[in-house]
Amino acid sequence: MLVIDAFFYPEATKALMAEIRRLTPKPIRYVINTHYHADHTGGDQVLRDAGAVIVAHKNVRGWVRVNNINLFGDRITPEIRARIEALPLPDLVTDHDLTVWLGSRKVVVRTVLGHTGGDLIVAVPDAKVLFTGDMLWRKVPPNLIDGSVKEWLATDAPFAAMAKTRFVPGHGEVASARDVQDFRAYLIDLRRLVGEGRQAKLEGDTLVKFVAPKMRALHPDWTISDRAIAAEVKYMAAELAGTKQRPVPRPD
Ligand SMILES: [Zn+2]
Repeated sequence: MLVIDAFFYPEATKALMAEIRRLTPKPIRYVINTHYHADHTGGDQVLRDAGAVIVAHKNVRGWVRVNNINLFGDRITPEIRARIEALPLPDLVTDHDLTVWLGSRKVVVRTVLGHTGGDLIVAVPDAKVLFTGDMLWRKVPPNLIDGSVKEWLATDAPFAAMAKTRFVPGHGEVASARDVQDFRAYLIDLRRLVGEGRQAKLEGDTLVKFVAPKMRALHPDWTISDRAIAAEVKYMAAELAGTKQRPVPRPD
């Protein structure tokens, strides 16, 4: 058994484990973290306690207890801070692609660029399933806090042509290649509109007010909160200005 990502709350991870136990008594040997964000790593200890090896990109060890604090910003509470500072560090890290054999089933772990600078995706070729982590969001705005939209679009471009593959996104329901096209269109529209706003010398709230209604009109079936679109516009503008801050790899 191999689990991909571990939720934020350990209670959710325990519920996942209970569901796994309804399906199979086989041992959970690995948990693969697609990236360091706490909503993907928060329940790692539950899986490690059950015997799993935590696998992640090599940058995750340096970021999981530190950069997750930034991720919460002004919403951090003492309880969440303590939980983040106690998150387990990955046991097995890589900056190369890996193949894991689960009996006769081949699982391919690939390093990709775009969401954080320490991203993995996981393919199960015989089942034609791709677990994308946060390289794909379905009908909800992606968190760009650590991302490069330029890299992200390049990574996702070949997925959009994989018509027979089922995609398991980091956020949202199971997806198709059409959903990948829709997600890429969202990022392309965001980049274009923020670019147009910047050319008109708009910034801050004025830029958000210029972009938000247009994004909602172009993507009416998406759930786009005020908070999410304001953050996306800010981060997209920083990327276009060349001032985007991204996590920096730390020494071991
Ligand atoms: Zn994420």
